[in-house]
Amino acid sequence: MGTFDSSGIRKVFDLAAKLQNPVNLSIGQPDFDVPDKARQAAIRAIESSKNAYTPTQGLGTLRERLLAQVQAEYPDSGRQLVVTSGTSGALVLVLMSLVNPGDEVIVFDPYFVMYPALVSLVGGKMVLVDTYPNFRIDLDRVRQAITPRTKAILFNSPANPTGAVASEAEVRGLAELAKEHDVALVSDEIYRLFSYDAPLVSPARYNPDAIVIDGFSKTYGMTGWRVGFAHGPAAVIQELIKLQQYTFVCAPQPMQWGAFEALDVDMSGYVAAYAKKRDFLYQALRDDFDLAPSGGAFYMFPRAPWGTGTEFVHEAIENELLIIPGNVFSRADTHFRLSYAASDETLERGAEILRRLARAR
Ligand code: PMP
Repeated sequence: MGTFDSSGIRKVFDLAAKLQNPVNLSIGQPDFDVPDKARQAAIRAIESSKNAYTPTQGLGTLRERLLAQVQAEYPDSGRQLVVTSGTSGALVLVLMSLVNPGDEVIVFDPYFVMYPALVSLVGGKMVLVDTYPNFRIDLDRVRQAITPRTKAILFNSPANPTGAVASEAEVRGLAELAKEHDVALVSDEIYRLFSYDAPLVSPARYNPDAIVIDGFSKTYGMTGWRVGFAHGPAAVIQELIKLQQYTFVCAPQPMQWGAFEALDVDMSGYVAAYAKKRDFLYQALRDDFDLAPSGGAFYMFPRAPWGTGTEFVHEAIENELLIIPGNVFSRADTHFRLSYAASDETLERGAEILRRLARAR
């Protein structure tokens, strides 16, 4: 299965396994744990034998609460919601339901690693729209990429791996373009909370047919709990529920109880802390690296100061710093991904190594 080659990341981890005390800026998940209230709720659920399947569309309490939030944000939209097995589960179901073999799916490059694999899994053809060097959405490029075979656009803001947050004008333009061409717009909002400079604008605000996928993994540090959700037009959500019945069945019940409690936890302190980490790292690197400002998620995507992304990352790992080469997320091998979901001390050590490497040639 050559399509699903993951050798890029594997090589990094093979090299990294030999290190004693590496500075790790490669992690794609928060460095805080699940809030206590949510942990206790999941434990209580297990202890009180809430261990069976839930309804396919999700535990009633959780689904109703999420749906109420969605309806408050998009009044009178008639949007429906399904709880999924992680945001990944939602992505799989959405692509399975929309894309037939030979259909084209527009993906922005750099992209989240899963997108190309999922598009080919459902027999689709990925059409890339380049966003280098600033990772902004160029609507003319998107327009040129649309053909009669285009079924969907996969959009992710705040973005993994670039940290870019699309502006209101970009989001609105994309939403209207999709509507005009009758192309499904799938908005991956898993980093919605981690938008530091302004609240996230969703394309669903301008395009009632936009399908939003979201989840609890990053917001509450529960990547292993596998709880996500999707909301959109009723007909689409009904299709996802049908497909979930024959694939994932449901998200794990105890974790859905935990996720329900998590909704009451105020995470703004963590978000503020990450915004500060972002500011620190940007200031520390901007003089030595070609670095687009990052408005969200917890990633930055600087250009390698010399060599290819892969060559620079090998040198970084030789110097005990773990980062990910850009070609894992892109057709280009010119950049690398940094995650600042790490302690301040780790970030300081990492920035020092990066500056030293940049000046070394
Ligand atoms: N979308 C994006 C952009 C992500 O970065 C991730 C996790 N790395 C996911 C979806 C999947 O998240 P999960 O399945 O844990 O909810």
